[in-house]
Amino acid sequence: MKPSSAFLCAVIAAAIAGCNSEHASEPVLWTPLASVSVDSGPGSTSAVAVPLDNLRRALRVSAQPQGCLQVSSAISVTGEELIADPAASDADIWRTTKLHQAGLLVLEGVAAELSHISFAAVPCDTAATGMLPTSVRVESRLSELPTNPGLKLRLVLSQAISAELDAELLAQLIGFELQLDMAITGVEVIADTDLIMQSQADFSPLAAILALLPTKAQDTIDLVIGPCLLQQTSFGLQQLAGFTPRIPGGAGPADGVFVARTSCGFAGAPPGTVNEIARLAAHEIGHYLGLAHPEELDGSKDDLASTSTHNLMHRVPLAATATGLTSEQRSRILAHPFVTEL
Ligand SMILES: [Zn+2]
Repeated sequence: MKPSSAFLCAVIAAAIAGCNSEHASEPVLWTPLASVSVDSGPGSTSAVAVPLDNLRRALRVSAQPQGCLQVSSAISVTGEELIADPAASDADIWRTTKLHQAGLLVLEGVAAELSHISFAAVPCDTAATGMLPTSVRVESRLSELPTNPGLKLRLVLSQAISAELDAELLAQLIGFELQLDMAITGVEVIADTDLIMQSQADFSPLAAILALLPTKAQDTIDLVIGPCLLQQTSFGLQQLAGFTPRIPGGAGPADGVFVARTSCGFAGAPPGTVNEIARLAAHEIGHYLGLAHPEELDGSKDDLASTSTHNLMHRVPLAATATGLTSEQRSRILAHPFVTEL
């Protein structure tokens, strides 16, 4: 599939945000680590050395000049390959999913001992018509674990939701689910138009929404609530309760979380209760911070040993019987650099 012009605009906007999102007064949090070219033979880069540190480590990776990337190899300090099978969509999914233009990698769990990483240029779509990146820019970030961990959210609300939603109550409820302090840094209002994705990897309608907004402050998550989300599948258009383009989030186009109002099936119906919206939003933010569903419909599991299948990250969050996260899930979200002291 050829990228639409809206997608290209979004890519450019995201690229600008990626290299210069800092407002003049904001500290520089990301430092350049390497810029490596993609070897046209194997289609991947040489290994980038990643210095070890006791602090939280994260990498931000950008395709140059544009295109998609995948982590092709990740070697630990003991020489162990951390990605056994890059093609398998199983336990390693959070490290090996395709990066559309840019992505953030959180080095926690087994990846906390990462010492070398390399990347492959991959087609963005199944028709393999897109441009392949020729080089990869890698930036690194070190940060301390905050004493009182919190999140900064910018609310992006559709008109119908903005008229009814109590934003402070919503933030409180999301904070309760994730056990994080919450700060709303701004509210933007958008049209109620449905967002229709042509495939699971078609982020263009989502990117187009964010591209129209003022550049967000760094470490802020855009939480879009309200527009109905529809995805084209082999069974026709499927309605989604929420969607997060990448696990974990933090870079690239459509870098945010998207929650549909809970009454999308019924035109003119009220948007749903604040409790329902908060749970869906907390679930999507869980994805953004690095969590997968404990178990998918086909039985595939996430890579955490302790995960119960019926908490916040259940694949049908409103049907889950328990609130909150397991200690392993919590460790993972706390490793994300956007979790900061407010
Ligand atoms: Zn989910």
